[in-house]
Amino acid sequence: MRGNTVIITGGASGIGRAIGLEFARRGANVAFNYIDLPGRGIAEQALLTETALRAHGVSVYADRCDVRDQDAVRQFVATVQAELGSVRYLVNNAGIARDGALWRLGSDAWRDVMDTNITGAFHCTQAVAAIFREQHGGRIVNIASIQAFQPSFGVSAYAASKAALIGLTRSAAVELGPSNVTVNAVAPGYVRTELLETLPEDVIERAKKDSVLGRLAEPEDVANVVVFLCTPEARHITGQVIFVDGGLSIT
Ligand code: NDP
Repeated sequence: MRGNTVIITGGASGIGRAIGLEFARRGANVAFNYIDLPGRGIAEQALLTETALRAHGVSVYADRCDVRDQDAVRQFVATVQAELGSVRYLVNNAGIARDGALWRLGSDAWRDVMDTNITGAFHCTQAVAAIFREQHGGRIVNIASIQAFQPSFGVSAYAASKAALIGLTRSAAVELGPSNVTVNAVAPGYVRTELLETLPEDVIERAKKDSVLGRLAEPEDVANVVVFLCTPEARHITGQVIFVDGGLSIT
């Protein structure tokens, strides 16, 4: 992977950060974006992540860029290509959840989730597609969720957005396959990140108990699979959804 560049959306924290570190460990240059939502202090987190990535001796580019804004995404990708070159991998990781019983869920919350989780991924996929088609190669990995298949109560927007992301994964795999681009999704169960802190304790305890392995995933458990899908060994895997859920989906 040395000399090639990965773009990771929402890469300052959580799973995105772990993915960046694993790519950097393997010598890839890393670009990531964030938006700095109020109360998150993510700009500071982004600086820490940049420092941790640079410690692996790779080039890093990080900036604010809202994946909901198509022009901003195009500009971000063009800048990454100019600054780091050789964009070979895209990980659509940026995601939000706005939970609530569907009869109470506001349309603003619905739209926020859809705009970020699926339209954002579309913007990023389209922006790199031009580069990948021209260079006849590339890898895209989308971070979906077990909630697309086994939704909990109150996740209608989130589950619908992740199911749509799987639809995008499969159709992009069909359209970009002839250009030697693979497109896959990883569907985590419950992963120990800030996103999980928004869930009630009893939901987390149940998730642990219901998984075959009796534990939550660490962000690195997801990162290792994402990076594998970008290695030469995974070149014949496309349009697939890989569950990283400790067996939650088989119970
Ligand atoms: P985090 O909240 O730590 O990471 C989400 C990242 O997305 C943040 O860095 C956030 O940046 C970024 N982001 C949100 N909105 C936008 C936007 N409009 N433009 C750019 N960046 C944005 O959560 P996780 O690491 O847990 O989640 C990462 C992915 O994994 C998500 O897609 C999530 O749905 C998925 N997932 C997580 C699971 C879990 O248990 N944690 C389980 C299954 C899937 P900022 O803070 O600046 O907004």
